[in-house]
Amino acid sequence: MIKKSYVTENQVGVPTDEDMSLINGYSLKTLTKDEIFCFSVILCDNDIDRDFERFNEESLKKLESLFVGKTGILNHSMKSEDQTCRTYKTQFLVDNDKRTADGQPYMYLKAWCYTVRSEKNESLIKDIESGIKKEVSVSCASGSRICSICGKPHCSHIQGKTYDGEVCYKTLVDITDAYEWSFVAVPAQRQAGVTKSFKKEKSMENILKSIREEKSLTLNEKDLKKLSDYMDSLKEKSLDGEKYREALVTDAKKNFALALPSIEENCVDDILKNLSSETLEALCTSLEKQAKKILPPVSQLYVEEKTNDTSNNEFKF
Ligand SMILES: [Zn+2]
Repeated sequence: MIKKSYVTENQVGVPTDEDMSLINGYSLKTLTKDEIFCFSVILCDNDIDRDFERFNEESLKKLESLFVGKTGILNHSMKSEDQTCRTYKTQFLVDNDKRTADGQPYMYLKAWCYTVRSEKNESLIKDIESGIKKEVSVSCASGSRICSICGKPHCSHIQGKTYDGEVCYKTLVDITDAYEWSFVAVPAQRQAGVTKSFKKEKSMENILKSIREEKSLTLNEKDLKKLSDYMDSLKEKSLDGEKYREALVTDAKKNFALALPSIEENCVDDILKNLSSETLEALCTSLEKQAKKILPPVSQLYVEEKTNDTSNNEFKF
């Protein structure tokens, strides 16, 4: 597949006065036109990408406002911090002459960026000018993904699979944050030559689904925290469950002794050890009923005794 350069050529290099005022809004010292290098990139679009995901108009518009002021780096690595660019302007655009793979009008997010002309940035600037550095990837957070087959955010349809002749893809919605964009080697988006590495916030259900279905999985910090909290809560629940089970076993043993006094203790242990909590509960209820039939409740015995005593008193001489 041929990748197009989205570092728009006529925008490379010299900034306008308007650009300069925006750029100086981000720099500590007032920069002059010859101190900076400007270029524009297409950050993302509404086409279905290689991961069978797409942005829609609403998501792109949200990203338009979120990406202003964000940095551009190399290979999503903070190690290359001495070679960074900053986004000073973004624009959501529609190209009616162009269509997405499924025939929708092509929409994209264009960003204008700058970097300081310095010895350190010399190679980066040359790579942008010559079109070597042309593919970018965005890193952002999306709250949910809508299925193209059923229109639901949570379902069993798998993106990339075909259902009744229709390939399933997911639309990324509820964009909550944009982290950075990066020059990358391998792009994922079809038209833009733009790839993305999502720091998607997944629901616990989605995280678990991914663990079951995907061969490899990338989780961001928030997702990892969510997963670890979830495991802690499971641990707590399982401890509670163990305690509950212990209580059920004790109860069952007591009722066994009452209902079936002749049964041996190790035999009871054998019976109880492999029962589920649910079966234990049912067994306890039955044994309790049985025990009650054999032994009347203590209070009833007491009342009867008392009655006898009073009647005896009446006939005392
Ligand atoms: Zn679905």
